[in-house]
Parts: sequence; structure tokens; C-alpha cells
Amino acid sequence: MLGKRQLQEIINWMKQTNEINENIIHWETIEGKEAINVPFPEELHPKLQAALEKRGITSLYSHQREAFDYGMKGMDFTAVTPTASGKTLCYNLPVLQTILENVEARALYMFPTKALSYDQKSELNELIDEAGIEINSYTYDGDTPAHIRQKIRKAGHIVITNPDMLHSGILPHHTKWVSLFENIKFIIVDELHIYRGVFGSHTANVIRRLKRICRFYGSDPVFICTSATIANPKELAEALTGKTMQLIDQNGAPSGRKHFVFYNPPIVNKQLNIRRSATLEVRKLAGEFLKNKIQTIIFAKSRVRVEIILTYLQELIKDKIGPKGIRGYRGGYLPTERREIEKGLRNGDIYGVVSTNALELGVDIGQLQVCIMTGYPGTIASAWQQAGRAGRRHGEALILYVASSAPLDQYIINHPEYFFKQSPEVARINPDNLIILVDHVKCAAFELPFKKGETFGGIDVEDVLDYLLDQKILVFSGNKYHWMSDSFPAHNISLRSASQENVVIIDQTDIAHVQVIGEMDTFSALTLLHDEAIYMHQGVQYQVEKLDWEEKKAFVREVQTDYYTDANLAVDLKVLEVDKERETDVAQIQYGDVAVQAMATIFKKIKFETHENIGSGPIHLPEQILHTTSAWISLKDEPNWHKDRLEQGLIGMAHLLKNMVPMYVMCDPSDVYVTPQLKSSHNEKPTIFLYDRYPGGVGLSDQIYDKITDILLEARKMIKNCPCENGCPSCIGTDGTSQNGKIDAITLLNAFLNGVLK
Ligand SMILES: [Zn+2]
Repeated sequence: MLGKRQLQEIINWMKQTNEINENIIHWETIEGKEAINVPFPEELHPKLQAALEKRGITSLYSHQREAFDYGMKGMDFTAVTPTASGKTLCYNLPVLQTILENVEARALYMFPTKALSYDQKSELNELIDEAGIEINSYTYDGDTPAHIRQKIRKAGHIVITNPDMLHSGILPHHTKWVSLFENIKFIIVDELHIYRGVFGSHTANVIRRLKRICRFYGSDPVFICTSATIANPKELAEALTGKTMQLIDQNGAPSGRKHFVFYNPPIVNKQLNIRRSATLEVRKLAGEFLKNKIQTIIFAKSRVRVEIILTYLQELIKDKIGPKGIRGYRGGYLPTERREIEKGLRNGDIYGVVSTNALELGVDIGQLQVCIMTGYPGTIASAWQQAGRAGRRHGEALILYVASSAPLDQYIINHPEYFFKQSPEVARINPDNLIILVDHVKCAAFELPFKKGETFGGIDVEDVLDYLLDQKILVFSGNKYHWMSDSFPAHNISLRSASQENVVIIDQTDIAHVQVIGEMDTFSALTLLHDEAIYMHQGVQYQVEKLDWEEKKAFVREVQTDYYTDANLAVDLKVLEVDKERETDVAQIQYGDVAVQAMATIFKKIKFETHENIGSGPIHLPEQILHTTSAWISLKDEPNWHKDRLEQGLIGMAHLLKNMVPMYVMCDPSDVYVTPQLKSSHNEKPTIFLYDRYPGGVGLSDQIYDKITDILLEARKMIKNCPCENGCPSCIGTDGTSQNGKIDAITLLNAFLNGVLK
């Protein structure tokens, strides 16, 4: 095979060229594995079998068969399915088989985004067409035209939707969906790992409402979840659905041999620990593969980056493969354009694609030979999803991780054993977050009155119902709580944020099409939506032109800048209640509720690649109070230091910890806030508080409490190995003012782990 030989040649070239190999930190070879095939189930409908055979499929992979058997037995299950392992058959086969056996049967498919629903609908419909069976599947979302909505409600065997639509468009109108809810046999939750944090906590409550309505119509559907590799797929699925899950985690799909290479761009400024730009290194490396017509996917972390890399590469190789040979791919493209690119990749007309994490999810683009990640995708789980894009069933594949100067990037590249040995992150939700719970109890009461003593997702909600009674939102009569307000509760509740008083983000880039692009809780808005802030939304950079605090509106415009903004918060934090505590020999660790009083003071403009501070400005916004959950760690003995050095050490250590948290808890560094206190008002000890950014907490601090010692250990490794001299943005950040910041942070970490040297 020509392609294989060429890739092998380039692999050799990388190993032999000094300019390349001196930047290679680690080379991991992952051996291929054979498929585990099992025969089709005997009861599989002949038409389904024929459709599969038409595609050249003559047997199932072991995990697909296991899924079929669980599904047909009516058992809830979660399948862990890496990229390109034939995931969709895990749910399509039991669903189609069931509908063929009982034409009244219905199924609901839930995907986290609209784009994924469209992809899955086309794939499902292809299978239905090939089988020549009379099964109707439709997507139902905000774009569905009014005239076909009624048809879907009556005649759709399979309804494909997203949680937002389920929440505001389907459940509140369940009386129009009687044939679905009376006959629903399966609920499919695809891309389970996306449902974490606030979004996952909301979706768990939407599912509680969904199950409540199913019960009302006398149905009890089976839940099928599919997930990328995370540390706790079964636990997450059970928390999300409230069902006991069977777990399928042995994958029967074959894979070829893979080379996973860690590449760190050379240092260009030793003192500040600045490296050559990852983008430029990627241009050089990707150009080499594309010139040889080796199919390559390049991941970048923002839409702006995608466009930059794309332009570079098109320029570099247009004579070799033509401008159409390499394409960009991201959220903003039209569906038809995306379909065309996916098809081009599958049939080999397109050699290269530069993408945001949009291509990390289930979209079918076939299997490519090379995957390049420009920067660490943020989690081990995402990195493996992206890596899964390279790797053919036969023949070798290459995955290149090119690190940026960001702290997590540098940590990962210098600790390959961490990446390859560690299980991926834990995904957490907190469906019982009081703010989120109250929102959904309202929606549920609107949908069907609550009977006295009725629980919600197994939770006793009588207090909540009585509170809503006091608020005159509900009325109690005939032993039931009835909805009495004029309003329609689901409209005011966004699944993507955790508080009611949100700042609405309005994009006025195109003055003829001013549109709302998102919402944010007021506490986060202090630091992320102040005037002149650079706000990132799905990888696009916007600048806030004006934040109207009274009206809770932020007006933004799309920009392309080479910096981001970072705001300082003056914080006063009080412990309200301690729920859990434990001690080590030298430290006290606690978890509980806190009240955080915060005022934004100034913001800094920080350059992307180099983290240089290139400007600043004041922020004038009122003080905000956040009630949330926190984990904190205090030193039992105070080191005998000058207060300033202790304080600088705490500031540096806090920055480190914030950046280490995403290695243990699946979240962004911005989902967790850190506040160091020299002498905490709670226990008068030097203390670092880590707390959930969302009011009421979504389970992150809980996990931090469990993992704090591991986080400290990894933080110490990271700072010790950082090649800077006195501290840099990759380790202790830029908030400190001392020349001893790095050494003080290390000493303090030692104190927290091993005790104070006396
Ligand atoms: Zn450093």
C-alpha cells in the first residue's frame, strides 16, 4: 500500500531529523488488536440482517452483540465506545428490532447538540432505507417546521432531539405527544460524557421529569447510554438517569498499530519559559504529511486558530494538492458544507481537515492516518477521542500532540506516564443542587400536579413544594399541588446555567442580525463579561462593548485579538457550614457551604502565546455574593515566615491548584475558583479554598475534597519540573509580586504535604 509506505517513511524522517527529534519528549507505540466478532443474534430481523450484509457487515463486534442482548431483555445499559467503534449499532439494532416486532413501539434519541442529531438521523435513515422497512424517524428541535411537527408527534417511531428541546418544547406539551409517551420503549442518551457540571445537573432533572411523564402514561422505557472513555461512565449514567446500569466496556472493534508522539516546541526565551508557537510547529509538521497526500486531521482549540492554521496550510501546499484538498471544520459552518466535508474525508477526496473539537464527537468521517493536536484538549478523555480519529483497521497511524506554553499542556507533555497510565477524569453532576432542583420542580408541577407525598427522582420535595406554595406559584387543592402562575416556567430556565438572574449575551457583530448567543450567571459575569473583556464562545472571540448591569445585558462583537483578559476579584469568603472533614498529620481538609462576597477590581490583557501582560483597566461593577460549595485545606502549624512570603507562596500555590483540578475533575479551570487566605476567618490558619463557580455547586468541590492530596502531589511535581527560574505563567501565574514566588510556593506545598520544617 502506497499510503502506508509513505507514512512509514515520514515516521523514519521524524526519528532521524535532529531538528524534529530533539523536540520529541515521548514516543508511545500502541499495538493493534484483532476484532472480536460474534455471529448475528438468531432473532435479528432478516431485513436488518440483509441491510447490514449490504454494507459488508457479516457479523457483530462483541460489544454490539452484548448491547443487543441487554436491550432486547429490557435492561438499561451504558456502552463505552471509543471513536469509530460502530457505536450507533449498539442502540439502533435493539430499537429497530423492537419496532419491527411491535409497530406501536416508540423511541426517543437525545443528542447534546443539533448538529449531532442531524448526523445521526441521516445514518439511521440510511439503515432504514437499506432494510426497506416502514419506520419513521424525525428530528424535533427548534428548526423543525411547524407543519410537520404534528406528523412527528403522531407518527414518529423515533424522535431525535436534544435536552433543551425536551425541556421546553416536548415535556411541557406532553398532552400532544400521547402516542410517544404511551408506547415509548427506549430512551437513548448519546455522548453521555458531555452531560456533566451544570448542563448535566439540569439534564438529570429533565430526565426525572421525562420519567415522571412516562409513568403517568404507563410506560417504563429502557435507557441506553453511550459514552467516551471517562473514569466513571456507569456512575455518571446512573446519576443522570436514576437507573441501575449494566456496563459494556470491552470493545470488540479492531484497531491497527498507533504511534502516539509528544512534541514540545523548543524554548525561545529561557527566563520567561516561552516556547515557539505550537501553531507554527503544527504548520511545519502537518505540511509534511499533506504534501505526501497522507490523510491528516488537525485539531485546534478555537475557531480563530482553525482559520489561522487552515490559511497557513492552504498557502503551503496549494500547488501539491490544490486548495480543496484541505478544509476547515467548525460549529459555524452550514450543515450542507459540513456534510460535504465529511463525505470528502470518507471517500478520500479531502486530504486534510483542520477542526475544533466539533469533530471529536460521533460524526462519521472514516478513519484517517494522522491526527495532530494543537495544544492539549483539556482532558484525557477528549485527547483519546481526538486521537481515535487516526487509526485504520489495518496499517499504522500517527498521533502527534504538540504542546503550547499553557500550564496543563506543559504538565502533560512532561509527564507522559501520567497521560498513558492514569484513568481519564471523573465526570460529576449534582442533580440535587437546590437552585436547579427548584427550577425543575416548577416545570414538573406545570406538566402534572404533584400529589402530596410524591417524590421527584427519589427526592422528598415537600419543602420545595411548600416554598412554591408560599410564593403563590402553586396552589394546594384535592391533596395535590397545582400550577397557578400565568407564566410558562421552562422558558425562563436555561439548561446551560445555574441561576435565574442571568446576564444575556447579545452579539451585535452584524447590526442587521443582532442575536442572543448565551447567558451567564451574574457572579461569573463579574470577571468574564465586564467592559472590554474578551469573551470566548464556542471558540469564537468576542469583545464586550458594553455591559448593562441594570438590564443584565452584555453587548458583544466578534473580534480577532492575540490576547485574552483576566480579571482580579477581591474576595471575602465565609464558611457557613462544615459537612465533611478529615486530617493529615499536618493539614486539615474540610468541605461545606461558603458565602463568597466578591468585587471585580481590574482586568489584565494577556498575550496568548507568551502570556505577557500587555495592558490593564479598571472594572466598575457592584459587589456580588455567591453561595456555593467549597473544599479547603489549612495548615495546622503556621510556618515561621515573613507574612509577605507566606502570602506570595499562597497566591502562587492557589494558581497552581486551580490549573491542576481539571486533571481530576472533568471541568474547565474556569469552573472552579480559588481563594487563598493568610489567616482564614474560619480557623485562623493559612488556608486555600477551592469552590464551585456555580451557585449551590455542581459536585466539583466534592470531588476536590476527595482528591486534594493527589492534586497537591501533582502540583508539586509540576512546579518542580517547570524550567522557569522564578515562576512563570505555566506554574505560579502572574498575580504574585515577589522574586521568590516559585521557591515560596514549593516550600509551602511541602508544608501542606509533609509539615513545616522547624
Ligand atoms: Zn514556571
